[in-house]
Amino acid sequence: MPEKLHPKIDNGLPRQKADFAGGTLVCACTSNPVKVKVKGQIAHNHACGCTKCWKPEGALFSVVAVAGTNDVTVTENADKLKIVDPGALILRHACTGCGVHMHGPVERDHAFKGLSFIHPERFQEDGWAPPGFTAFVSSIIESGVDPSRMDGIRSQLKSIGLEPYDCLNPGLMDYIATWTAKRSGALPA
Ligand SMILES: [Zn+2]
Ligand SMILES: [Zn+2]
Repeated sequence: MPEKLHPKIDNGLPRQKADFAGGTLVCACTSNPVKVKVKGQIAHNHACGCTKCWKPEGALFSVVAVAGTNDVTVTENADKLKIVDPGALILRHACTGCGVHMHGPVERDHAFKGLSFIHPERFQEDGWAPPGFTAFVSSIIESGVDPSRMDGIRSQLKSIGLEPYDCLNPGLMDYIATWTAKRSGALPA
């Protein structure tokens, strides 16, 4: 029996459209949903096993990507949003009606400052870039997954082309380390 990783990846990855120019994220409320406009194609889309990301019911992983914070605008029912943890790096704004995280800007001084984390499955449009890897795979154990299932879960992720990592992928880890090295002077700024 295959594991239920996430509804958007269990039956094949979503297809990217070359002309996707952004869209509208809609929460799960049946009345007065929160709507968030995102301009342009998303970046660094990935599956994530951390315990902080919002995941749909029954999914082991979230699907999460970034957009420039300047390209993310709450357009409807902003009053329903509340920051999950004001002390966290990612300021995840959750809908108080349905629990979906609608956008999560990084405002603190960090390599990711100026980016907002969003869940592209909430786009009402198709064509957003599909996930390309899996981050924080081991963290699903912290949500109660028995460690004996991990080999199978990692193989399943590999078979659909979402290489499993226990932190972020090498590209993003190098990006963060480069930012830190420029700050400390270990690399020229
Ligand atoms: Zn909602
Ligand atoms: Zn996560």
